[in-house]
Amino acid sequence: MTTAVFPGSFDPPTYGHLNIIERASRLFDRIDVVVSVNMNKSNLFTPEERHAMLKALTEPYQNVTVHLCDTLIVEYAKKIGANVLLRGVRNMNDFAYEFDLSLMNHNLNPMIETLFIPTEQRYVIIKSSAIKELAAFGGDISNMVPPVVAEAMKAKYAQKGTQKK
Ligand code: ADP
Repeated sequence: MTTAVFPGSFDPPTYGHLNIIERASRLFDRIDVVVSVNMNKSNLFTPEERHAMLKALTEPYQNVTVHLCDTLIVEYAKKIGANVLLRGVRNMNDFAYEFDLSLMNHNLNPMIETLFIPTEQRYVIIKSSAIKELAAFGGDISNMVPPVVAEAMKAKYAQKGTQKK
């Protein structure tokens, strides 16, 4: 059985992430989507909120589960017996970053292989950080994130607006 781990911040989950998950679910026996818990205070959603959104969004895929992780991802993979780390790649900038990261992870654990899945053309410009900027100004993000995420973002920014007053 081949288990692949798909780690990320997912702040928020986007159609780009879901496309990678859907395609990977056809390639591997099991996919663990792993929400990284880090001390980065600039995240819009808590790890638990991101976990809950991804859990709901990946419900249609029988072999996909969602987890939280506060350790190195190679340690997580080793613990659950996964030997593949999945990463989505949008462009050469992503590739340069992901390539270096894959070398680092391979040094940490040579048994774990990073595999890259190129995004589909329609998802190239979908980026969590850009979506947050757009949403903060009330821009239309409906073709970038599922409705449940768009609603959650709207609520977050409304709450932030109220807090500022
Ligand atoms: P990070 O925490 O490294 O910023 P994210 O949480 O944004 O990463 O995304 C997790 C993974 O999903 C990464 O491999 C990233 O390259 C990939 N990804 C993000 N957006 C897209 C997209 N639009 N198409 C394909 N892959 C994507």
